[in-house]
Amino acid sequence: MARLGTCGAVILAAFGLAACQSSGGVSGPMTESEQCWWVHTCFDVAKTADQRAATIVLDYKGSYEPFAVQVRTSVSGMDGTWLENETFFLQEPRQIPILNVKAGTTGSWDWRWSFSHHPGVEPAVHDDSVLYRLPYRDGETYEVIQGYGGNTSHAGDNFYSIDWDMPVGTAVLAARDGIVVSARGESNRKGRGWDNHVIIRHGDGTYAWYLHLQQDGVTVQPGQSVTAGSLIGYSGDTGFSSRAHLHFQVSALSADPDKFYASFPTRFWTADGEVAQLRKGGSYKGVSLPGG
Ligand SMILES: [Zn+2]
Repeated sequence: MARLGTCGAVILAAFGLAACQSSGGVSGPMTESEQCWWVHTCFDVAKTADQRAATIVLDYKGSYEPFAVQVRTSVSGMDGTWLENETFFLQEPRQIPILNVKAGTTGSWDWRWSFSHHPGVEPAVHDDSVLYRLPYRDGETYEVIQGYGGNTSHAGDNFYSIDWDMPVGTAVLAARDGIVVSARGESNRKGRGWDNHVIIRHGDGTYAWYLHLQQDGVTVQPGQSVTAGSLIGYSGDTGFSSRAHLHFQVSALSADPDKFYASFPTRFWTADGEVAQLRKGGSYKGVSLPGG
């Protein structure tokens, strides 16, 4: 008896997943597509319409900062070759075969894959003594619409993330000193991997992510030093975003072998003083850091 396949769906911002199961069916020609996250982490996926044959190649396009790219696959009842769980540290352009499978003639079969990527090559621990400024201009107030553990998308590795409701075109400021290591501003598309963004490396080796920026709304370049309060771009609604907002998180590769990367809670300085944890529904007024 034939089981129909259910195929599709990605899980998290930096994740891809394909899952299919069936038996019977007829293979046809391979259809190819390229899926890219943040311009550089691309996958060339070729598969037949019935998913009984597939190949996946990681096609890394090169980046200013080295990125860790973790790829996981799960295959059963199929012939071919695949990498089960590997992490690559990539900076130069490189192509890596991930999976090349074909269903057997009888029985059930299944193939799945997912990936995650994060800048950096080694784990880092957040310096909790650092106070962050709100990433928008002094005197402006924005509401947090998703906080830590928010059930829309702040889970797993991205648990400690903040979303501010923010009209397209609002000036976005660095919340902490650092060096810009990734900046992308040409996207005008929605969907996973299409975010315009700025990524800033901090002195403790953690990285801040500022996502969903407006098309042509990035005002910094990789290699540039910024201080808390520097203009880095303008907010938007690009990428994996259902409404205009700014997504912010601080994260680093994890030393925990069961995790790939981890995000960190951050303390903010506001017009009303220090706030240990910004909360959903709260509105916070921007102000310069004390002494800054
Ligand atoms: Zn978010």
